Amino acid sequence: MGASIVGTPALLGGEPAHRGPWPAWPVHDEREREAVLGVLESGKWWYGERVREFEERFAAFQDARFGIACTNGTAALELALIGAGIGAGMEAIVPPYTFVATATAVLKANAVPVFVDIELDTLNIDAGQIEAAVTDKTAAVMPVHFGGLPADMDRIGELARRRQLRVVEDSAHGWGTKWRGKGAGALGDAGGFSFQLSKNITAGEGGMVLTDNPELADTIRSLSNVGRGKDRPWYEHYLTGGNYRMTEFQGALLLAQLTRLPEQTALRAKNAAVLNAGLAGIEGLHPLREDPRANPRSYHLYGFRIVEAEFGLSRERFVEALRAEGVPCGPGYPHPLYRNPLFQRKGTGPTYCPVSCPYYGREMDYTRVVCPNAERACREVVWLSQTMLLAGEEDMEAIVCAVRRIRENASRLS
Ligand SMILES: *Cc1c(COP(=O)(O)O)cnc(C)c1O
Repeated sequence: MGASIVGTPALLGGEPAHRGPWPAWPVHDEREREAVLGVLESGKWWYGERVREFEERFAAFQDARFGIACTNGTAALELALIGAGIGAGMEAIVPPYTFVATATAVLKANAVPVFVDIELDTLNIDAGQIEAAVTDKTAAVMPVHFGGLPADMDRIGELARRRQLRVVEDSAHGWGTKWRGKGAGALGDAGGFSFQLSKNITAGEGGMVLTDNPELADTIRSLSNVGRGKDRPWYEHYLTGGNYRMTEFQGALLLAQLTRLPEQTALRAKNAAVLNAGLAGIEGLHPLREDPRANPRSYHLYGFRIVEAEFGLSRERFVEALRAEGVPCGPGYPHPLYRNPLFQRKGTGPTYCPVSCPYYGREMDYTRVVCPNAERACREVVWLSQTMLLAGEEDMEAIVCAVRRIRENASRLS
């Protein structure tokens, strides 16, 4: 394709490949309006019918038996781990290319996160590297279904059964995703979801734990509701729980949002397929791998890698050029999770428990952790947000055109 066809990059004075706004977020209409006003006027604002109904509907939507709503996705992961019995002296395996809560949930459970590298072509934990990190202390594996693509749950499930590990899924990007026909977040012992504002369904904040295990569901419910017992009097407290309850406003909003999710998920997937086709074969641009076992899958993010030596432009300059074309995008995490001060200075508090704790009997030194693929992903990945995937096919074509234009003119742009 010649420069005459693709045109002059906007950074060099050409017309931007995309003009006009991208879809707004969050999305709402009469459904949300009626839901919120209905709760307002009912006077029933507290943890009741709407929350129950959303728990049932969302659990069914993801093929889980039980759903326990909570305040946010961070809390969902903490509740899931603690409920699953993860605690002091134990380790849980997590990927380093993820939101901080994946690892802090382990710390909050008094256990030690152990980082295992990701695959460069999916950005999910590399299931083939997990077993080498299993020790006599390992109690759980926490795969993150990054961007909406499940980690390899076949291999993780097999390993977990063989080594007797719990599987707690960080399914904070997994709304609507299925793996071999079963919903994400319902594939392991428990899964945590987020309904924070940026997420594909949202009430501003909100979270949910899913599980198929009735005892675990009761434990997590109790932990989320100040330790109360199922069908027991309100002043009988059994566990060291907290108040993680969702409000009826959130429940009602999320019920409305859920009615829109299948259609939005299908639209994002359709647009992602247009991008996958259009971006294939561009030298130096590496799309992420799809997996036929993940069908349907959600897209919380649409990502690809720019390899500077092949593309002829740094990732930073690429992002700048693509933004100039009217295509918002970003580089994502600037460094793997373990490079954060929290880990580099050996945990928190005067005792540095749990990473350096007599009960653990070992010392975890995160300054020595290096996961090469995660490091590389932080240098190479470019993300488009889920909201852009709600635009039209011509908008996807504008993105492809913009990328091709930048590639054709890489030497002039660098
Ligand atoms: C958003 C997110 C969370 C936490 O959800 P919050 O609702 O923001 O607390 C956890 N893990 C991942 C991968 C996320 O993206």
